Parts: sequence; structure tokens; C-alpha cells
Amino acid sequence: MAFEENKGIYVIAEQFEGKLRNVSFELLGQARQLADTIGDEVGAVLIGKDVKPLAQELIAHGAHKVYVYDDAKLENYNTTAYAKVLCDFYNEEKPNVFLIGATNIGRDLAPRIANTLKTGLTADCTGLSVDDDNKTIVWTRPALGGNIMAEIICPDNRPQMGTVRPNVFKKPEADPNAKGEVIEKTANLSDADFLTKFVELIKLGGGGVKLEEADVIVAGGRGMGGDEPFKTGILKELADVLGGAVGASRAAVDAGWIDALHQVGQTGKTVGPKLYVACAISGAIQHTAGMSGSDCIIAINKDEDAPIFKICDYGIVGDVFDVLPKLTEAIKKAKHA
Ligand code: FAD
Repeated sequence: MAFEENKGIYVIAEQFEGKLRNVSFELLGQARQLADTIGDEVGAVLIGKDVKPLAQELIAHGAHKVYVYDDAKLENYNTTAYAKVLCDFYNEEKPNVFLIGATNIGRDLAPRIANTLKTGLTADCTGLSVDDDNKTIVWTRPALGGNIMAEIICPDNRPQMGTVRPNVFKKPEADPNAKGEVIEKTANLSDADFLTKFVELIKLGGGGVKLEEADVIVAGGRGMGGDEPFKTGILKELADVLGGAVGASRAAVDAGWIDALHQVGQTGKTVGPKLYVACAISGAIQHTAGMSGSDCIIAINKDEDAPIFKICDYGIVGDVFDVLPKLTEAIKKAKHA
């Protein structure tokens, strides 16, 4: 099938309380590369209430066109209503590709759209490229427990759709002089399109720094020995002094020391902070899959042969209960010097 009418690589932009999520910019960077390869254009779809001012930010990060659905009814994410808006958008504008962040919202929304439009969806991608035909997107994602990388294509249906993990790709530099088109759309919604009702927003994590968006993560593993270091003790103290978030290996989560929202790795979050401090974490492939993209990794482990030392920038062989308090103290002193 030729799909001549399908044009444009479209990022479904995600915003929360009037702020665009980083993953939307990361996807625009990828959309731009794919579009340059296949000779297509980059677009974004923005949904919410009072969101129109955000369109320029999307243009600055690579969108040629931004379609805006600015409607009070769309203030809070609603699965069925947002899916309806995006399916209507597809039927009117016929985009070639939908790129969606593999966030909680993206993972909820993408399958609804794919099912309604009867097209394929590749979830949790970590790589994007173009097939030899120069038009089909190749979606790469880990499979079989992370032991192989699968390459998936959607040759017979449109739109081509995939969700992409946050922090896998770098956010492109913004170009404040970039020019693009902002197109206001009307959402065609009735009460029947809202199968659930928004009641209240309950924020988790006591208002701390969000793991996926943190510049600094101090993460602990099984060697931390209990929940106290994560909650108030040596890990939390270092995270606080650096203005960062607390992360964890799956072993620490499985032990019940910290909530699964903090898990980094293949079955947790993919993170890409400026600094990742891995404390008493051995460095299993399933953990490093989620943090190896960090700009700088410091590992503290009492076993000099721990695999984490193979991927870190700085390694400290020592006991975390000895090293961490000294590190925190030294940083506090340096800050006040
Ligand atoms: P361990 O491997 O037990 O390592 C503990 C480390 O702490 C050791 O290196 C030890 O030397 C060190 N240590 C102990 N005491 C101290 C001390 N006092 N001072 C300094 N160092 C000390 N894991 C994840 O993390 N994230 C995932 O998303 C994930 N997904 C998975 C998916 C699948 C399908 C599977 C099969 C596994 C997954 N795992 C994941 C589990 C992963 O394989 C490892 O079991 C896990 O990462 C180990 O956690 P850990 O490094 O904390 O514990």
C-alpha cells in the first residue's frame, strides 16, 4: 500500500499543569531526524486547557506545525476523551507517524488509539530508524528479558505508532528564532466520550524531585540493608544536599524498602541525569539498562569486582555506611565555603 496521503511525523506532546514534559522535546529531536531522512515534516499535537502558549516551545524544539486542542473540558487527562480527539485528528489530518512518550499517560493512551485506528503499536522503544525503503519506521525495543533487541515495522497500516521511553534520547537545543505554524483545532466531544470523571489530583512522593526529570539521582541497592537510608538516612541526606531524587535497584524495591516508582532499570524507569550515584548496587544489566545514559556515574561498592565499576566514570571501593556520610559532609562544606 502506498499511503500517499499520510504525511508528517507527529509527536503527541504531553504537558502537566502547564509545563511540557521533557520527553516531548526528546521525541521532537527524533522526529526531526526521521523526517530529514524520509523527507517529511514534523508536527506536534497539544491537548489541554490554556495550553496554546506552549506551542512556541514545541516549535523551538523542532516542530514545523503544532495543532492545538485548547478546551476547558480537556484540562485533566481523560483516556477516552483524549483518545477520541487524537483519532479524530488522524482521520482529518492523516499523519504518517505518531510518537508518544512511554509515560503513564502515553502507555494508557497509545493502545486505545492504535486499537481504534486498527494499526500497529510498538511499546517502550529505545531506538528509532528508517527501513531500506526510506519510508517505513523501524522501532527498536528490548525483548525476551532484555537479551535481544527486536526491530519492529508496521508496513501495512497507518499511522505508524510507537511509545518511546523518557530519557533514552537527548533533548535537542531550543532555537528561539524557529518559525512554525500554530493551528487551532476544535475537539468534537460529548459527555459520552468521558467514561471516567476526574475527581481529585493526589500527588505522590511528598513533592520531592521526580525521578525521570531529576538532574541528580542517588540510588541504593540491596547493600543498603533496609528502608531507613532511603527514607531519612544516608541516601536521602546525600540526595537532599545535591537537590536530587532517590532511586533504587529492583532488589531494594522487592525488599519493600522503597516504592516501585523509584525503581531504575529495565522494568523500572529509564533515567538520564547529569549525575547518578549508585550506592551498593552491583550493576546487573537490567539495572544499567535504565541508567547508563547518565552524563556522569559514580559507583560506591565494597566489592572491587562489582560490574558497576565497568560502566562508571568514578568508582569508590568502600562501605557505603562509611563513604556516604563523608561525601555528604564534604559537599555541605564545599557549598558553604
Ligand atoms: P545485588 O546484586 O545483590 O548487589 C548488591 C551490591 O551491594 C553488591 O555488589 C555488594 O558488593 C554491594 N554491597 C553490599 N553491602 C555493601 C556496603 N555496605 N557498602 C558498599 N557496597 C555494598 N534490577 C533493577 O535494578 N532494575 C530493574 O528494572 C530490573 N528489572 C529486571 C527484569 C528482569 C526480567 C529480571 C530477571 C531482573 C531484573 N532486575 C532489575 C534484577 C537484576 O537482575 C538484579 O537482580 C538487581 O539489579 C540487583 O540489585 P542490587 O544491585 O541492588 O543487588
